[in-house]
Amino acid sequence: MNTRFDAIVIGAGHNGLACALDLARAGRKVLVLEARDQVGGAAVTRSFAPGFSVSGCAHLLHALPQSMVQDFGLQSHGLLLAAQAMPTHALRPDGPALALHAPSGLNAADAQAYTPFQKRMQGFGALVAHLLKTSPPQLSLTRWGERWAMLRLALRLRLMGKSAMRELLRIGGMNVYDLLDDNLADAPLKGALAFDACLGGEYGPRSPGTVLTWLYRLAGQQGAGNSGLSQVLGGMGAFSDALGLACTAQGVQIRTGLAVQNILTRDDKACGVRLADGQEIEAAIVVSGTGLKHTLLELLGAAQLDTGTVRRVRHFRARGLVAKLHLGLSALPAFTGADAAALRGRLLISPSMDYLEQAFNPSKYREIPERPALEISIPTLNDPGLAPEGKHVLSALVQFVPYELGPHPQAARAKLLQNIFAVLENHAPGLGALVEHCELLTPSDIEREFGLAGGHWHQGALSFDQFFINRPLPLYQQYQSQLPGLWMCGAACHPGGSVMGLAGRHAARAILESRSAP
Ligand SMILES: Cc1cc2nc3c(=O)[nH]c(=O)nc-3n(C[C@H](O)[C@H](O)[C@H](O)COP(=O)(O)OP(=O)(O)OC[C@H]3O[C@@H](n4cnc5c(N)ncnc54)[C@H](O)[C@@H]3O)c2cc1C
Repeated sequence: MNTRFDAIVIGAGHNGLACALDLARAGRKVLVLEARDQVGGAAVTRSFAPGFSVSGCAHLLHALPQSMVQDFGLQSHGLLLAAQAMPTHALRPDGPALALHAPSGLNAADAQAYTPFQKRMQGFGALVAHLLKTSPPQLSLTRWGERWAMLRLALRLRLMGKSAMRELLRIGGMNVYDLLDDNLADAPLKGALAFDACLGGEYGPRSPGTVLTWLYRLAGQQGAGNSGLSQVLGGMGAFSDALGLACTAQGVQIRTGLAVQNILTRDDKACGVRLADGQEIEAAIVVSGTGLKHTLLELLGAAQLDTGTVRRVRHFRARGLVAKLHLGLSALPAFTGADAAALRGRLLISPSMDYLEQAFNPSKYREIPERPALEISIPTLNDPGLAPEGKHVLSALVQFVPYELGPHPQAARAKLLQNIFAVLENHAPGLGALVEHCELLTPSDIEREFGLAGGHWHQGALSFDQFFINRPLPLYQQYQSQLPGLWMCGAACHPGGSVMGLAGRHAARAILESRSAP
């Protein structure tokens, strides 16, 4: 390939594609190189058994900004939603499922407290939503744009009023267990709310920082606007394909099945990439949408970095705790207490905060949970084309499954499946007999199958020490690495993961605003 590109993007995950598209919309000549033979990274559709397909990793949109759909014209490139504003229900083995948007059967105090409490948390979520939309500034705040962004943030905080501000400062660093316990009594309701605070992270409800991760989830929901929780027709891959088509229409070249082996440098500056077959491609800048360690230690090489950076990169935490279960079912399962509307939505098995904490505890010792917590969707109810006629797919997120499965991984995997089925049978008696096909992907399988760093939801822990100005590393802001010409745009950067494309779009903006922009 003789053409010289303005930018090479490594990885066609949805953030890499979003970054490439924004660069191309600004007139840059962009090449995207993807190791796998399909675009999307962890947002793909996967055929897991003959006739059965499923959203392979990410399965529900909960944080996709409407602005991204509109700016990129994704609908005109084929994006269709099979379901929008999907409800969430907390399952109970012996009673009706609890609808989180309008829970019934609460005691009088909870019934009175729930809506105002939700509203207050959503108000805080709006502030975090603003933070997600803001690129982290340099600590020195030397640029006017950064000063304005920080001033706007401070103003928003101030406009919340004194008592809300004080409350946010009080609860911001707390754990979600204590926060929910202070405000509500109903165990299944608290279990379900705490589930969202822990989803995708490496935390149980008692871990510090889980109020922040809950607010992060609420912030994402606000970005999604009226679509709320939604399911993509054809699986999550149809979303990534639409993004890929929008890229191509804008002149981006996407080449799949080509793994980058090295980032090339000349005169202490990134100048291109070398592929696994030895081919070298030049570009003014290189933007990596893959994980931090892979980019800096494997593709660039520690020799190009100072020792302090190497140490900090090595300490970047990125070990996922969410496994994915895919079942091909001969018929629709019946879940106790869940009506037809609930089955079309999102079902949670996290009946109390103690249950969730107990599901989390073994992961600290690299052990599997006895009774895992689950998020379940039956995508074929909204999109029958994913399975043969009359049959169904069940897609479940399983918390908390360690990256390393201990000294006997095969035995641990078998025991994990047994534990998951015991939990499922408890809520959907007879489900086991409907199973025709079963696939379980643990975090290390997810890393191998989808290229998602560490099999981690966010390509790296989302915690105070790896958030906003500290993400991915302190002193490594604005998506620019210490090596001139090398940028990052994946979920390892602010504001982290979930299918929302913000990291990719912020990176593109930072590149275009930089003095060394191609
Ligand atoms: C089990 C699980 C369930 C999830 N469910 C949801 C959900 O329901 N909803 C939601 O919003 N989010 C969900 N997420 C999170 C979401 O999937 C991720 O945050 C998001 O997909 C990350 O996108 P990305 O583009 O930043 O990175 P990635 O998707 O990781 O993309 C990186 C790309 O780089 C490629 N690559 C890596 N190395 C190279 C190389 N050397 N050369 C070329 N290409 C390379 C990879 O193959 C990959 O395609 C889930 C995550 C997990 C783990």
